[in-house]
Amino acid sequence: MTLDAERFLADLDTLAGFGADGDGGVSRPSFSAADGEARAWLARRCEEAGLGYREDAAGNVFMRLDGPPGPPVWVGSHLDSVPNGGPLDGALGVIAALEVVRSLAEEGVALSRPVEAVSFTDEEGAYTGFLGSKAAMGGLAAADLEGIEGRDGTPLVEAMRAAGYDPTAIGSAAVDPAAVAAYLEMHIEQGAILHEARIPVGVVTHIVGVGRVTVEFVGRADHAGTTPMHLRRDAARGAADLLAALPGLPAEVGAADAVVTCGRLALAPGADNIVPGRATLHLDMRDRDRAVIEALERAVGAHAEAAAEAHDLEVSLTRESLTDPTPLDGRLVDLTAESAAEAGLEARRMPSGAGHDAQVVAPHVPTAMVFVPSIDGRSHSPLERTEPDDLVAGATVLRGAVRRLATEDA
Ligand SMILES: [Zn+2]
Repeated sequence: MTLDAERFLADLDTLAGFGADGDGGVSRPSFSAADGEARAWLARRCEEAGLGYREDAAGNVFMRLDGPPGPPVWVGSHLDSVPNGGPLDGALGVIAALEVVRSLAEEGVALSRPVEAVSFTDEEGAYTGFLGSKAAMGGLAAADLEGIEGRDGTPLVEAMRAAGYDPTAIGSAAVDPAAVAAYLEMHIEQGAILHEARIPVGVVTHIVGVGRVTVEFVGRADHAGTTPMHLRRDAARGAADLLAALPGLPAEVGAADAVVTCGRLALAPGADNIVPGRATLHLDMRDRDRAVIEALERAVGAHAEAAAEAHDLEVSLTRESLTDPTPLDGRLVDLTAESAAEAGLEARRMPSGAGHDAQVVAPHVPTAMVFVPSIDGRSHSPLERTEPDDLVAGATVLRGAVRRLATEDA
């Protein structure tokens, strides 16, 4: 027996209807009306399949196939989406998990432990990001929720109460990590590596670390009409030199897979007729190795100093954050790769360049991830799609890995 591909794809379509924008996109933040409707529908699907359905104080959903007492295998992702996101980010992992658990129930396989399909709350940060997985791993107390506001300014605690959750009880969502056997998450790649290589399945080895720095060039704001070119201290020139250096930085530090992005750049005062006196660049640097991110940071600093020198500017670099890379569990990674081989599917071992609930869970519970290709690498967009055959391939690999973990000797 295997999973019911038709039912799996149909449920994925149905879920995309909750919060549908009409342009193929989905807006389903946690604690919204669409989120509530999606949960109610999931609860009905569980009832039809004879699975348990419960939610904890953080709004995390657990869809349970009972087994002999003991730590359950968790398999899941998140129900929430970014504003006008796609139908797959998060949703795929939840529906694949439901289908895995449902089809294992139908197979009547002798389990050695329970299996729970899980959906973590607010992964995408409509309020704070990784809210549910952090709460489950014991990282949140009631006081931590005070002062957090949503994108629309609504306090998190108010949104939770309006949706029927008690924010003061958030601590009760914490589980003893030793009471969870493993966590497996299936997700779209959100990049184009698998799509370009025409490989149906990715087995994630690491989630990359992220370094964020702010670089500020300061020169002098002057009249754009009366200041000759050679007398300017134009902060934009420093920014331009640094931007031009960014594509070469990964090779410069000897890490070809590293990525560096300037996604935010501000010139001040910011008028057509003023030479900019200040240029602020926000840089995002990612790699699987913390030492590489630190080397990138130093290289950015060196290029910024050179640019400042060349254009008679002052420059400062501020580290905003540095999140460590998260290695996933070696045994589970191997087991997931074996599941792909058993299904006759080609799989590539690869890092994840994006963040996932798996990175919050992995330091506490053995964790692995399965990726499927994103067509043209599109994600966080209404154009986010994956070929149905690849969706089924990924869910098949997920099922094989979960089946192994749920049936092996305790
Ligand atoms: Zn996601």
